[in-house]
Amino acid sequence: MKMSQDCIFCKIIDGDIPSAKVYEDKEVYAFLDISQTTKGHTLIIPKQHVRNIYDADASVAESLFARVPKVANAIKEAFQPVGLNILNNNEEAAGQSVFHLHIHLIPRYGKEDGFG
Ligand code: 5GP
Ligand code: ZN
Repeated sequence: MKMSQDCIFCKIIDGDIPSAKVYEDKEVYAFLDISQTTKGHTLIIPKQHVRNIYDADASVAESLFARVPKVANAIKEAFQPVGLNILNNNEEAAGQSVFHLHIHLIPRYGKEDGFG
């Protein structure tokens, strides 16, 4: 598995940086975002280090996006939100701050949940 030594998400996958795991299998890892936009805000990442969607080949993208419903339902069960936003930032101009491909799953709790 290709890793990047300076990447904080690769360190999270390796367990060198602690994280609150939501889901894991051979290809992907999902964990709570350190800055909870809403309760249960989760990131899902490929275990293979890929900078962002521009560098993802079909098999990385396929396994990553294919896991979204499973992780979304795990979050739904744990946190009982009434909706969900799915977000993916690519490059700095689009708000990407960690350069290891990731999908944000942001549970929604109604108009007063403080997000959008
Ligand atoms: P981006 O802005 O690149 O789309 O999202 C990166 C996300 O990673 C941010 O929401 C940020 O809070 C989260 N993040 C950054 N460093 C860490 C960390 O060490 N642990 C966890 N769990 N999340 C992190
Ligand atoms: Zn990485």
